[in-house]
Amino acid sequence: MALIVHKYGGTSMGSTERIRNVAKRVAKWARAGHQIVVVPSAMSGETNRLLGLAKELSPAKPDIAYHRELDMLASTGEQASSALLAIALQAEGQPSVSYAGWQVAIKTNDAFTKARIESIDDKRVRADLNAGKVVIITGFQGVDDNGNITTLGRGGSDTSAVAVAAAMKAHECLIFTDVDGVYTTDPRVVPEARRLTTVSFEEMLEMASMGSKVLQIRSVEFAGKYKVPMRVLSSFTPWDIDINEEAASGTLITFEEDEKMEQAVVSGIAFNRDEAKISVLGVPDKPGIAYQILGAVADANIEVDVIIQNLSKDGKTDFSFTVHRNDYAKTIDLLQEKVLPALGAAEVTGDAKICKVSIVGIGMRSHVGVASKMFRSLSEEGINIQMISTSEIKTSVVIDEKYMELAVRALHKAFDLDQA
Ligand code: ADP
Ligand code: ASP
Ligand code: MG
Repeated sequence: MALIVHKYGGTSMGSTERIRNVAKRVAKWARAGHQIVVVPSAMSGETNRLLGLAKELSPAKPDIAYHRELDMLASTGEQASSALLAIALQAEGQPSVSYAGWQVAIKTNDAFTKARIESIDDKRVRADLNAGKVVIITGFQGVDDNGNITTLGRGGSDTSAVAVAAAMKAHECLIFTDVDGVYTTDPRVVPEARRLTTVSFEEMLEMASMGSKVLQIRSVEFAGKYKVPMRVLSSFTPWDIDINEEAASGTLITFEEDEKMEQAVVSGIAFNRDEAKISVLGVPDKPGIAYQILGAVADANIEVDVIIQNLSKDGKTDFSFTVHRNDYAKTIDLLQEKVLPALGAAEVTGDAKICKVSIVGIGMRSHVGVASKMFRSLSEEGINIQMISTSEIKTSVVIDEKYMELAVRALHKAFDLDQA
């Protein structure tokens, strides 16, 4: 008997029929003698619908009072799906109980809409498990020290599940989703993409942070920090598939370097359309410039990703960086109002129609010429590279958004990822 956490995403919970299917699958695992905690997402489209209603009433406001209400609102999606799953399980004859984050409690900081989990009290959950119940805990949400409901950022149910698994020292965290594992790239963009049977934690971390949507980055960080065994697998197989076959399916996230002799140089390609580029032009080239620009941006709680500074000419330089698209207008305003006058820079410009494409692989550590192969392949497609950033196991480029799919396909081919 083992304690296992199951997480089901929005599509997997997308209708009462699908919820019934999830209930049958969970009941199968419970019948096999396991203690099961389930972390569901809201039914697909529900979080967007709720946030859309808020937008109809008031355009996004940066103030904290508005964000508090957004969390109060968005968290209801998971509350509904969790209760429905408990009802479906009971209908299957499987005792079960659902809890909202605050009832557990899952304690977070007070950063509304992007809160971080600080602690999880598992007393109540353990008591229910020991009483033979399946326990359902809402994904995506927690509670701050003042009793306010918080949410963990879009896609945050993955993080809830891994955090619960870490806190309870679960045997494994199974992330059930609408694809049957982690692929070399998004199979919806490149049909030739292949499923990976294992992916190293470091590669998964890079892929998630570079925009691969399959796992929220913080869930991978949690898994790494607490060494939570984690697997991504399909919720769309027949629910009564053999449990041992199911337990070995999908993609396992591994923590040890793969012993395989022939490690692929590039394991996957990630892409991200959520960023925007901002350039500060004609900046005097003297010490403290990066700090003056990026310090002001950081003080406004805006995360910066890729950064480049051009060579200076006549004592002036250009400085460019990317931010999340949601922060684009705010960053431009901030630079124009506060930073430009103090810096004596000429102009701020920006481009929200960019995307970032990244190749990821731990094999890149021990191979040379990987980045240049990437650049050659993009140049053969006539794609102009605007920015480059690298780490030990990834190379990212910022390009025009309209070439994204072309770039991903070309790189997938160039690195032989469609070959088994
Ligand atoms: P869930 O609702 O289950 O959390 P998500 O939509 O958040 O599911 O994530 C699953 C989706 O991630 C897939 O449908 C797929 O389109 C996308 N995806 C992006 N990159 C990858 C990848 N490398 N491997 C698998 N799926 C990917
Ligand atoms: N329902 C939330 C979202 O749509 C959390 C999740 O699905 O992981 O972002
Ligand atoms: Mg998700």
